[in-house]
Amino acid sequence: MFGKSASPGLAFGKVVIVEDIFDKVTATKIDDTSSEVERFESILKEVVGELETLSKEALQKDQQEIFEAHSMLAADPSFKKEVLKLISESSFSLSYALKETGLSFMAKFEALEDDYFKERALDIKDITTRFISKSMGLSTSSLRNLPNDVVLVARDLTPSQTAAIDKTKVKGFITELGGVTSHTAIIARTLEIPAIVGAKGLLSEVSNGDLLALDGLSGQVFLKPSDDFIGELKVQIEKEQEYKEALKTYIDKETITSDGHKLKVLGNISSVEDAKNVLKNGGEGIGLLRTEFLYMESSAAPNEEKQFNFYKEILEIMGKRPVTIRTFDIGGDKEVSYLNLEKEDNPFLGYRAIRISLDEIDLFKTQLRAILRASVFGNAKIMFPMIATHREILRAKEILEQCKQELSNEGLDFDQEIEIGIMIEIPAAAIMADLLAKEVDFFSIGTNDLIQYTMAVDRMNDKLDDLYSFYDPSVIRLISMTINGAKSAGIPVGMCGSMASELQLTELLVGLGLSTFSVTSGSILSVRKNIIETSFSKCDELVPSALNSSDKSHILEMFTL
Ligand code: PEP
Ligand code: MG
Repeated sequence: MFGKSASPGLAFGKVVIVEDIFDKVTATKIDDTSSEVERFESILKEVVGELETLSKEALQKDQQEIFEAHSMLAADPSFKKEVLKLISESSFSLSYALKETGLSFMAKFEALEDDYFKERALDIKDITTRFISKSMGLSTSSLRNLPNDVVLVARDLTPSQTAAIDKTKVKGFITELGGVTSHTAIIARTLEIPAIVGAKGLLSEVSNGDLLALDGLSGQVFLKPSDDFIGELKVQIEKEQEYKEALKTYIDKETITSDGHKLKVLGNISSVEDAKNVLKNGGEGIGLLRTEFLYMESSAAPNEEKQFNFYKEILEIMGKRPVTIRTFDIGGDKEVSYLNLEKEDNPFLGYRAIRISLDEIDLFKTQLRAILRASVFGNAKIMFPMIATHREILRAKEILEQCKQELSNEGLDFDQEIEIGIMIEIPAAAIMADLLAKEVDFFSIGTNDLIQYTMAVDRMNDKLDDLYSFYDPSVIRLISMTINGAKSAGIPVGMCGSMASELQLTELLVGLGLSTFSVTSGSILSVRKNIIETSFSKCDELVPSALNSSDKSHILEMFTL
């Protein structure tokens, strides 16, 4: 069976099917409330007993502590009281009473400032899941406290679920839905976990505990592989490991072609952990800090202080290296419930990113103030996503100026010279590049969106993969147009979309005049190796025929055969 490559690498392990049991519970009323109460009492004893046993049997201390804390939370009298109230007073079924109580407890924890307490919301979710599955007679697995060496299989995983994956236990994951440039796939690449998306029908083929192998590069799923096959796979995994080891010689090398053309390889990140991984892999800075996950993680918009601390921590980790902070790109596949955004027929063509920022000024200003305040702790740059018009840049800059003025009035320090840039990810911006370039200090090409808008192919739609391609000449021409526009105004152009890590295209992108490549930490060294092993004159020679190709097959032939 085949899906699509979301994150390269080979892996095998026992299947754990990820279900969100909360989705299965609907508001149901019952007649016999007293027997429902009895059922709860017995399930409660069972769950607490189970957790105590798990805690005693856990081999590692941290697991022991987690189960111990869970058994205490499960026995919490206020949780019990709330469930009983919903059954006795409102005649709700046990499952629904559990779901509602779980959700209300989670919301209380999520609203707290302290990260430690926020984390407890996940514990409540896990415990409630345990309760509900018992009440419904189902077996379910949670993403925390997984056994070792598992492959997660799900209909879909949300970006935050993916971000919560424990890399020490999860060897890979496969989803039935999702596209290669969905944010779930992007996080998988950042975590360097082999992953496949769009594996239609997989859930009906596997059960919990089945052995399964996957090739994250080709997208192939191997159901119930033989011992011989697993043996071969182990050898291959070892080879992959050796290749990764060999790449390490490039960690401290300068990114420069054999004829002296200097470039930079930067990292794409969305968390503090990602920033540390970029440094570990020799990244020369951050070309894209996606900030929307800050907004998606909690039940309310993150305040200035919280954001300030997050940006400051990353800037301090990166020292003198540049950190490009992109203002929130909410919308599209990144939903944020508390903004109460209307459901749209075409969310990728709708209310998203800078369009929301310029409308929800307070939300935008909170972020800009936080970035400005953090800017004194390192080398911060601000980047605006989804710019389509000149006017949007002027308006965003105006709001930024207001924030600077406010901070000055309040006597708060910030980098007065902070650079600002825009994402070029809408064809309109690429076409207008020469004029937009006069307004900003840098461009960064977002190919994930640029391709979807150029080809009119939803980046999540797996039926149209053939059209959605890095190799389409229209995309290459728009990149060239963007770089030429920037050159006329004397500003540099980077690329932070997934095309920057398409290794067959490194030379063409260098030839087109790109200054920086921004990729997930796992790709930094292979891109640098490609640059070091080529010369600018060779890259330059590739450009005319690529720009004169009438079909992507010519470009594929030039670079992949
Ligand atoms: C892009 O569109 O290429 C990009 C880097 O932004 P995102 O994937 O977050 O939309
Ligand atoms: Mg984008």
